Amino acid sequence: MNAWLAPSVIVVCQSLTSLLSNATTEGPLDGILRAWGLILRGYTPNLSIEITRECPLRCPGCYAYGDGHLGGGITLRQVADLQGDALVDGVLGLVRAHKALHVSLVGGEPLVRFRELDRILPQLAADGVHTQLVTSAVRPIPVAWARLRRLQVVVSIDGLQPEHDARRAPATYDRILRHIEGHAITVHCTVTRQQVQRDGYLEEFVRQWSARDSVRRIWFSLYTPQIGERSAERLTAADRALVLDTLRGLRTRFPKLDLPLPALAGYERPPASPETCIFARTTTCYSADLTREITPCQFGGEPDCAECGCLASAGLAAVGRHRLPGGIPVERVFAASMGVGAVARRLRRRPRGGAIPDPLLPPAAAEPATD
Ligand code: SF4
Ligand code: SF4
Repeated sequence: MNAWLAPSVIVVCQSLTSLLSNATTEGPLDGILRAWGLILRGYTPNLSIEITRECPLRCPGCYAYGDGHLGGGITLRQVADLQGDALVDGVLGLVRAHKALHVSLVGGEPLVRFRELDRILPQLAADGVHTQLVTSAVRPIPVAWARLRRLQVVVSIDGLQPEHDARRAPATYDRILRHIEGHAITVHCTVTRQQVQRDGYLEEFVRQWSARDSVRRIWFSLYTPQIGERSAERLTAADRALVLDTLRGLRTRFPKLDLPLPALAGYERPPASPETCIFARTTTCYSADLTREITPCQFGGEPDCAECGCLASAGLAAVGRHRLPGGIPVERVFAASMGVGAVARRLRRRPRGGAIPDPLLPPAAAEPATD
């Protein structure tokens, strides 16, 4: 394994099985093989679930509440929202039906449903599923969750205090600092144009959060616009280049900054389209009614892949371009595996002899076999 491939495999493993998550008990190869096995059988190893439509924040540039997020005609605020047993059973049922190895629970604000999460998270941990909870930390994060295996709590912190508090109140710095006590969180910062107006801004951010005991690692994503979007958040090409250059320098000085070189390379050259985005093709995203799929990826709508800033997508894009011995790019092997998986999935659509219908398929597809 050469020096480039070693981190690449780490990224594959982390993205396909744990999405750059907490330390796992399984080895990297085991994770990759399990994910690959699922792909060959027509499943997607990653699941992303908007477990509630509610959120007390009103962040500028929030894609989840965008008009086009769910394809138009309905927004996240209008979809049905489950609670209590229906939500607990619904989420666990989806995870089991998809045989997911990794689940991202997002929102809205997931902590709005902390009572249900208090039942869902331990069960996912017991089932061996790697779970990532993405939150604003607007309310206390139960300390008991810090002891759950395979759970990664990711707190969105978008810039230094003045900019963050202006964008993300009531999930202010003061609240976050109180609410993450007793945890080892991942700080996740989405870089927007507002953060590149001053030299040293990102370094100050990394330095501040690196110094906190309650922070295990720091991630950066870049703001991903929709096609044709004109917003104050959208980075220019020069902004992107500057941010990537800055992060390249910071990653060697701040160990908590978790940014593998392949991911940086992926940011420089994102997938050309959702069809060629390995992350999008290995992740199924559901909205708050647990039935509506978000396409073509977690951003929904018409994301501008040329300016994608998704960390997982960037890492997997770089891995996909890596050439195996013999010169075959990994993405070609992946495409072939997806093809095999598509056949396997089609075969499940036509069960013989009254086989159990695939729970992933809509009722209309569960037609009787004709042969
Ligand atoms: S916390 Fe998340 S879901 Fe809520 S408004 Fe902000 S970006 Fe949107
Ligand atoms: S916006 Fe990013 S994550 Fe979404 S499909 Fe395009 S490249 Fe993939």
